[in-house]
Amino acid sequence: MVKKSLCGLSAEEIFSLIGPSGFTLSHAVSISNSIYKKSTGEISQITKIPKKLKEELASDTYIGIFIPVASEVSIDKTVKYLFRTETGKEFETVYIPDNKRNTICVSTQSGCRMGCQFCVTARYGFRGNLSAGEIINQIISIPDAEKVTHVVFMGMGEPLDNLENVLKACEIITAGWGLAISPRNVTVSTVGITPGIEKFLQSSDCNLTLSLHSPFIEDRKRVVPIEKQYPVLKILEIMKNFPVKKKRRLSLAYVMIKDLNDTDSHIERLKILLNGSKIRVNLLPYHSVRNDPNTSSSVERMQYFKHNLIVSGISASIRKSRGIDISAACGLLGTGLK
Ligand code: SF4
Repeated sequence: MVKKSLCGLSAEEIFSLIGPSGFTLSHAVSISNSIYKKSTGEISQITKIPKKLKEELASDTYIGIFIPVASEVSIDKTVKYLFRTETGKEFETVYIPDNKRNTICVSTQSGCRMGCQFCVTARYGFRGNLSAGEIINQIISIPDAEKVTHVVFMGMGEPLDNLENVLKACEIITAGWGLAISPRNVTVSTVGITPGIEKFLQSSDCNLTLSLHSPFIEDRKRVVPIEKQYPVLKILEIMKNFPVKKKRRLSLAYVMIKDLNDTDSHIERLKILLNGSKIRVNLLPYHSVRNDPNTSSSVERMQYFKHNLIVSGISASIRKSRGIDISAACGLLGTGLK
């Protein structure tokens, strides 16, 4: 019989496994607390459950936590991890410590099939979706697991192309019986899959970031092929009209490329698209890859862009890059780590 991984199950699902033998929901919560909050790797080490339950669990389940196979540390202390599943799927995870705010950037797929022009992961190809357990494992298996305060779904893969597993992972991350991280500290990033965005907004309280790249549709189509199938204008309307709960954040990620998407006409077009909305704009420096003639916009240009958005009433900020020396920054993940 194939044993079932407990990592990736909700407390309710664990209860449905142990309930028929007379064990309670509170036993299930003890199990989920041990796995998700304490990264307990062996069933025998789970606390607050009877020995008989441990024996029963061990006969047809296993914890399912697996450690990274390699890691690399940046001069800024960002750490990139490489994971490999039993079936050989590889994916990378980035841990970004920053005083009291420690962020983990998780992958949702091994590779990606969206084919965005400037992304290293797109060149790696698509090797498969990650299960909810494989997503959660990236947080609870690293040495600094207990220090994680924020989770961003911005690693390899398009999260909304693996929506059910991402929603399940968000549930485990935010639940009291899970990692108990506030949904305000969890952000899912997408290039824009309209049905997935609608379902995500309705089914989760976590934040959503849409990667725009260009406010001009023909330009965006060249960089983000999914634009041909799911027009960003419709997605922006959905985001603008969605009744956002207090403190939940809907934002745009805008990677700034010199002369390509950082001109005054881009600012003017962005202002029109975001007029009257509470959507925030996160400006990010561009990281060029090999044989790429494009470079990032200068710091001055990014400041200018930000200033112009803010004076027009649009909330905007500039994001720092981390882990550039180990190719852990945005758009650079491609399992070059061995
Ligand atoms: S930018 Fe994101 S969605 Fe686009 S190819 Fe890269 S990983 Fe996939």
